[in-house]
Amino acid sequence: MSARQTKYIFVTGGVMSSLGKGLASASIGALLEARNIGVTFLKLDPYLNVDPGTMNPFQHGEVYVTEDGAETDLDLGHYERFTNAKLGKVNNMTAGRIYDSVLSRERRGDYLGGTVQVIPHVTDAIKEAIGAAAEGADVILVEIGGTVGDIESLPFLEAIRQFRASAGRENCCFIHVAPVLYQSTAGEVKTKPVQHSVKELQSVGLAPDIILCRTDRFLSKAIKAKIALFCNVDEDAVITAKDVESIYEVPLTFAKEHLDEKIAQILNMWTGRPDLRHWERLFNTRRNPDRVIKVGMVGKYVDLTESYKSLNEALYHGGFACASEVRIEYFDSEKLVDTSVLSGLDGILVPHGFGSRGVEGKIRAIQYARENEIPFLGICFGMQLACCEFARNVAGLESANSTEVDPETQHPVIDLLPEQRDIEDKGATMRLGAYPCVLTPGSKSAIAYGATEISERHRHRYEFNPEYRERLESAGLVFSGSSPDGRLAEVVELPNHPFFIASQFHPEFKSKPFDPHPLFEAFVRASSKLNAAKPTTATSGPGAAADEGTR
Ligand code: GLN
Repeated sequence: MSARQTKYIFVTGGVMSSLGKGLASASIGALLEARNIGVTFLKLDPYLNVDPGTMNPFQHGEVYVTEDGAETDLDLGHYERFTNAKLGKVNNMTAGRIYDSVLSRERRGDYLGGTVQVIPHVTDAIKEAIGAAAEGADVILVEIGGTVGDIESLPFLEAIRQFRASAGRENCCFIHVAPVLYQSTAGEVKTKPVQHSVKELQSVGLAPDIILCRTDRFLSKAIKAKIALFCNVDEDAVITAKDVESIYEVPLTFAKEHLDEKIAQILNMWTGRPDLRHWERLFNTRRNPDRVIKVGMVGKYVDLTESYKSLNEALYHGGFACASEVRIEYFDSEKLVDTSVLSGLDGILVPHGFGSRGVEGKIRAIQYARENEIPFLGICFGMQLACCEFARNVAGLESANSTEVDPETQHPVIDLLPEQRDIEDKGATMRLGAYPCVLTPGSKSAIAYGATEISERHRHRYEFNPEYRERLESAGLVFSGSSPDGRLAEVVELPNHPFFIASQFHPEFKSKPFDPHPLFEAFVRASSKLNAAKPTTATSGPGAAADEGTR
């Protein structure tokens, strides 16, 4: 696209939550990129937490971490996985953060004695946030969290209403996502909920240009015409967002409904035809795997797999890379006593976690994977517990533990480093975001990455205690990745095991369907009983530091 006028797409949701607005936004971004349009995103969350970093994963799902160390809503993960957008602190704004900035300005005296109000001060701060996030992009997709009609979303809806006036109507497109429900007793689909939620929108001065109907079936022309008539949109602006088997089918489903074409028309953008060949290839790879492998995920949030969103996706990506379909089985670590339930798994993954609940179950799973030579991947807490397991059962330090779990442990193999000891605030004070790591040449990790200098994202407070490094090394644990100054342990592995790698960082945040993360690919290859190393001789892989930002 030649014109540099930024275009704005606002995505709202009606009737209920969990309609997949985030995925819809990510998919629209992917379709626009396929037309050579540069996209970025902003998620506006109406809750009062400053960020989701301190929120319980049971309530909020995964906390996604960006390169610059922002703890964000998991929708940013969808956006980064589906597009080339590079997101950071400016791309997720909560009401809490907006109010925080307004109140700090008030305390500084910036409002010169004026009365500080939701309109215009809070709405101005929201508009500024939209402007800041949009910088440099052809198109920004702004997703408003929550449901239209909630008290909390009102300032956001008012801000985008005002924004349209300053940005120009022709530069804004409003997309409303709402459910069209099938009523089995009447045997028909019901459009009333959509109509009502559009009314809600209209009551705050907004009118959708496009309605994305979440349904379990394709909508007939007659139903689309009815929705168009009652909701005051074009008939071809009523789009069926039908449930699909996998999230990776959403962009193609939208393209079939000509959603991107309609957006380009509304925003008056001239683009070439979309090139969706990579999405089609992915579709075929997914639908025709050579084999199915079972990976056991042993964690504490197993009832809410949203908490492991990026991990799940990274495992699927690893599967795409080697024609394997990954089936994930979740094991509640609190209940894991008899490890024979793990037999039959092709691979075992112990994910991130906090606190002492379920820790012994995770340690048992790690021991089982180590002793039975089952491919194992440990992520963050999973790496810390792999060190504890090895210290206890191989190095003979029986009571080894993390001080997070047992502050009085005789062998604090995992501990707080001095810089973390005096921190009292819980919000945004962990080691967060991208840090460089150096891998030992020839190690399994370096071979998997095809590089020795990498950069990966972190989110943790505790670290491996360097005082134990020599003792574990002499018992056979290989510290194959460290911070460039050698102080922090970043990756450990076992040389005489088919695949046993654990990282202090979170590789899953950088995995993409079209660029699977090398550690996940290697793990899935090993679990598929394929040679874990990719069949290539590359010396610098996608994880090379030179490529920082993409991996
Ligand atoms: N609870 C551990 C820590 O804070 C690990 C965190 C994680 O797994 N992300 O260090």
